[in-house]
Amino acid sequence: MALIVQKYGGTSVADPERMRNVARHIAATRAAGHDLVVVVSAMGKATDNLMQLAHQVSANPPSREMDMLLTTGERISMALLCMALHDAGVEAVSFTGSQVGIITDTVHTKAKILEVKGDRVRAAINDKKVAVVAGFQGISTAKEITTLGRGGSDTTAVALAAALQADSCEIYTDVTGVFTADPRVVRQARKVAVLQFDEMLEMAGAGSKVLALRSVEFARNHDVPIHVRSSFTWEEGTWVVGRHHERMKNMEEPVISGVVQDASESKITILGVPDRPGVSADIFEALAKANVNVDMIVQNTSTAGTTDISFTVPKADVATAEPVMSRVAKQLNAGAVTHDDGIAKVSLVGAGMKTSPGVAAKMFRVLADNGVNIEMISTSTIRVSVVVRAAMMQTAVQALHTAFGLDSGDDYAAPLPERK
Ligand code: ASP
Ligand code: MG
Repeated sequence: MALIVQKYGGTSVADPERMRNVARHIAATRAAGHDLVVVVSAMGKATDNLMQLAHQVSANPPSREMDMLLTTGERISMALLCMALHDAGVEAVSFTGSQVGIITDTVHTKAKILEVKGDRVRAAINDKKVAVVAGFQGISTAKEITTLGRGGSDTTAVALAAALQADSCEIYTDVTGVFTADPRVVRQARKVAVLQFDEMLEMAGAGSKVLALRSVEFARNHDVPIHVRSSFTWEEGTWVVGRHHERMKNMEEPVISGVVQDASESKITILGVPDRPGVSADIFEALAKANVNVDMIVQNTSTAGTTDISFTVPKADVATAEPVMSRVAKQLNAGAVTHDDGIAKVSLVGAGMKTSPGVAAKMFRVLADNGVNIEMISTSTIRVSVVVRAAMMQTAVQALHTAFGLDSGDDYAAPLPERK
């Protein structure tokens, strides 16, 4: 008997039939004797639809009201799932994020969880009821309703699992696990059985959409084993665990665990920046103040006392970042600010890289042999990322997957449902 947190993503609860399937699975988990807390996302494309609606009534919707609007998507799911559970003979009770005490900071539309109180969830468990919690939302220290950023229900689930010291957190989605590459791009991609937290963290940071980055941070910091699996097939998925977890025993540390692609960022360049101390600090402080997430940074060598600085940001943040950069450029007496939407990031991730020299060199050679030009490079101890033209992303991912020996013997031919 265990305490399990199960999270169901948007495709898992997309329509009444899927909702009833989920209710049956929850009933079976209960019947096996486990205690259960459930976290739900909004149904199907509900969040996208609400965002569209917001932009139809306003050119620039205030973020407080955006949060108020978006949190309704998860409220619909949680209430409907409880109704379906009722019919399946399971006693269940729904709660908003605020009702279960998910306390966040005050940054609307991408709030960070500061604390999880969880009293009402604990009370429901003691009453032998299944608590169904709305994902992706909380209440700020200023008592405002907040959301955690797209995909944030994963974070709700893992944060709850950490607070309740659950035995595991099962993330149900529309893919059967974490793959060595996006199976829609690389037909030979393979499902990975076990990954270390650090690898999954790098993959999420590199653009893998399977798990929200912040949820993996929570899992690592609180040692919550995650099981990513499909609510379409219910088969065993991918475990994400600490490196000393028993599932890691007798596992070889692969040099490369996966190739990750990301076309969601743009490159911003400030030309002719004076080359003197404090300039980078001014630029990136201004971006931090505007809550823009900066990823890769490249500063060119200085010629005639000036340099160009390029960095990547989520495409969604370009509209915020550009005016901020224009202002800073003027203050610094720098030149023009440009942005480039036609880029993609391709990353290799693997814990075994630490002890295996030559990965970056081989990566660059493979890209060169395939005619892919590299525009930016960044590394960590277990990741190498490059920025390339978006049009070359698929070529790059496929070539690297093959060159690093990740291709499976047989084609991964199972039809994949469309991701939300
Ligand atoms: N419904 C939210 C979204 O679409 C949160 C989530 O699905 O995790 O981003
Ligand atoms: Mg999701």
